[in-house]
Amino acid sequence: MGEKIGGEATFRSILIAGAGPVGLTAALELARRGFTPRIIDDGPGPTPVEESRALGVNARTLTLLSPSGVAERIVDAAQSIDCFRVRAGERTLFELDASQVQGRFSAIRGLAQGQTERLLLEALSSYGILPEWRTAIVAGEIADFRKPEVTVRRPDGAMETVRPDILVGADGAHSVVRKALGARFPGEALEAYFYLVDFRYSGQIDTHFGEVSIFDPGMIGRLPVASDVVRYISTLEDFESRIVHPATIAERLWASQFRIHFRHVEPMAKGNVFLAGDAAHIHSPAGARGMNLGIEDACWLAWLIAEGREQEYSALRIPAVKQVLKQTYGLTRLITMTNPLAIAMRNLIAPLVLRFGPARRVLLRSVAGYDTPKPPWIDWAE
Ligand SMILES: Cc1cc2nc3c(=O)[nH]c(=O)nc-3n(C[C@H](O)[C@H](O)[C@H](O)COP(=O)(O)OP(=O)(O)OC[C@H]3O[C@@H](n4cnc5c(N)ncnc54)[C@H](O)[C@@H]3O)c2cc1C
Repeated sequence: MGEKIGGEATFRSILIAGAGPVGLTAALELARRGFTPRIIDDGPGPTPVEESRALGVNARTLTLLSPSGVAERIVDAAQSIDCFRVRAGERTLFELDASQVQGRFSAIRGLAQGQTERLLLEALSSYGILPEWRTAIVAGEIADFRKPEVTVRRPDGAMETVRPDILVGADGAHSVVRKALGARFPGEALEAYFYLVDFRYSGQIDTHFGEVSIFDPGMIGRLPVASDVVRYISTLEDFESRIVHPATIAERLWASQFRIHFRHVEPMAKGNVFLAGDAAHIHSPAGARGMNLGIEDACWLAWLIAEGREQEYSALRIPAVKQVLKQTYGLTRLITMTNPLAIAMRNLIAPLVLRFGPARRVLLRSVAGYDTPKPPWIDWAE
C-alpha cells in the first residue's frame, strides 16, 4: 500500500491563510511532499474541542489522510457510528448499517473538529512547521494574481508585506483572500435557522448510532461527539424540551445557532491564488460534508502543486463542490419541510425507496464521501 508522489518539490514559497482543518491539511500534504509552507491564523489557537462545529469524519477523508498517518489516529480517537436511524414518532422510517459501505473504513465516524485539528497539528509539527497564531492577512486587493502581494498583521501589530509564489485562502466563510480576489460568493440563505446543543452525561450511554427524529414540522438530529457526549441539532428553537436524554446530564457543554447558506465561488482560483474549504463553499451541515469537502480540496491542491499542475485545481474541484452542494441542498429541504402534505409524502415515500439495495448504497456512498472523484495519487482501493 503506497502513494505515487510526484516529482521533486521545486522551491516555491507558499503562504496558507487559515489554520482550520483545511489550511492544516494543505500544509501537512505539502510538507510531506517536501514543501515548507508558511501557515498563519488570525485566531489564538485551534478550535476549542468543546466548541467544535464539525463532528462527522467520512471514509474519503480517512483515505486522504492515510498517507500522513493522521487517518489511523482519527480512527483511534473517534466514535464509530454503526448505524443511522430516521424516526417519526415511535415509527422507525428507515435504518442504515454504516459498515455496509465497501472499503477500508466504515462510512463515517464522530470526532470533534477541535480534536481533528490537534491531530493534524501534531502531524504537521513533525515536519517542523507550526501555524503562526494571531497573525492575519489584512483586507485589501490583490493587484497581480500571478504574483500575489498581501499584507500580514503580526501578533505585535506590526505589518509585513508578503509576496508568496502561491497563496492559499483557507480562511473560512468570511475569507479575506476571496474578497481580495474580488470574487463573488453567490448563492442563497435559507429562512430556517439550525440550533445545536452538546450534553455530557454521567454513566454509560450508547454513542454508536446517529439518529434523526422527524416532527411535523421540524427535526432533531442526534450524533455522538465522545463516549459521554451527544450533540443534538434541530430546526426547532424550543427543541431542548423535546430531547429524550439517555442518562443523567452532567453538563450542558455548548449551544449555538446558525443560519444556513448555500454558496460557492467559481472559479476557485485566479493565477497563483487558490481558495479551499469554507472560503470557497458553504452549505448546510446536513450530510456532514463541509469539513470533509474542504479537506478534499486541500489534498487535491497539494498534490496538484507538487505535480506542477495547480492551474487545473478549479476545473477539477468545481464539479465535486457542485455535486455536494446539490445533494446537501436536497437533504436540507427534506428535513426543513413545513407543508403538511409534503411532510406526509416524504414520510411515506422515503422508507419505500430506501428499502431497495441500490438506493441504500447510493446514500451510504454519499455519507462516506465516495461520490466525488477518487484521489488519483492513492493507489489502493478505498
Ligand atoms: C453546526 C455545524 C456542524 C457541522 N458539522 C460538520 C460535520 O459533521 N462534518 C463536516 O465535514 N463539516 C461540518 N461542518 C462544516 C465545517 O465546520 C466547516 O466546513 C469547516 O470548519 C471548514 O474548515 P475551514 O478550515 O475551511 O474553515 P474554518 O474552520 O472556518 O477555519 C478558518 C480559519 O481561518 C482563520 N482566519 C480567518 N480570517 C483570517 C485571516 N484574515 N487571516 C488568517 N487567518 C484567518 C480563522 O481563525 C480559522 O481558524 C459543520 C458546520 C456547522 C456550522
